[in-house]
Amino acid sequence: MIITKQKAIDKILKDASPFRKIFVIGCGTCATACQTGGQEQVKAVSAALSDRLAGSTVVEACCDVRVAKRDLSKHKIELEGADAVLALSCGAGAQALGETTGKPVIAGLDTLFVGKIERIGRYYERCSACADCIISETGGICPVVRCAKGLLNGPCGGQVKGKCEASGYTRDCAWVLAYNSLKAQGRVEQFKKYRAPRDRSPKSQPQEIEAR
Ligand code: SF4
Ligand code: SF4
Repeated sequence: MIITKQKAIDKILKDASPFRKIFVIGCGTCATACQTGGQEQVKAVSAALSDRLAGSTVVEACCDVRVAKRDLSKHKIELEGADAVLALSCGAGAQALGETTGKPVIAGLDTLFVGKIERIGRYYERCSACADCIISETGGICPVVRCAKGLLNGPCGGQVKGKCEASGYTRDCAWVLAYNSLKAQGRVEQFKKYRAPRDRSPKSQPQEIEAR
């Protein structure tokens, strides 16, 4: 899931202030799961816009242009009357909505990370989309994001009793978690494998895949 949090309503209203009529769009996937851009949140933000509301909806997935176009086609007239769209979605979804509608876009949410949802309000960063996944070698624990230093070979000397120095010894060391996980799986030999440094030189961005 893409984990998001809602911006303060004052900030949303300030960013929306240059526009006369605004159409509010929530996201039925990640933002609904986080309760930042589902039906209830769309209703609350729409109410705050009062008479400047042109309309509102929750599309299945804002970042998927195909489904966003399909879902927004039901709101063609309201959208035509809007000067801007207010996106309650992650940044990828918000940008896609701006391009799909051709309207200025107001971001209602901040995008935090790719993570695991344990329950509402309890989220854990789990992946940085590094394009070279190694969790099959590390007992299902990602050291790229779960180690504070992103070490590919750990643990470092700051680990004490399984806790990480960077967190003030409150969080588990990712490499101790990886070791324990591999041990429980009977694959502890994997732990000895050396991983060469990655190429950290600036890469071309944004990444685009255009496979047919
Ligand atoms: S190694 Fe970690 S950051 Fe990279 S793809 Fe796998 S889970 Fe994501
Ligand atoms: S203690 Fe563990 S998690 Fe913390 S920086 Fe060192 S290797 Fe990474």
